[in-house]
Amino acid sequence: MCPDCKDKPCKVNEQPNGKLVCECGKHSWPNSGVYAEACRKANLTIVKTVHNWTQSL
Ligand SMILES: [Zn+2]
Ligand SMILES: [Zn+2]
Repeated sequence: MCPDCKDKPCKVNEQPNGKLVCECGKHSWPNSGVYAEACRKANLTIVKTVHNWTQSL
């Protein structure tokens, strides 16, 4: 979920180039590490999901 879209749940999709973009296109992160940091600041519970993504890369 996008940590910056707080009004509604917004999925974050990983692009082939490693960039992450939220479903509405308002927010993007250059890599999963930056996204994980954004999530950590917004909500500590989301980080576990991102960790799984990092493992699969
Ligand atoms: Zn967003
Ligand atoms: Zn969004």
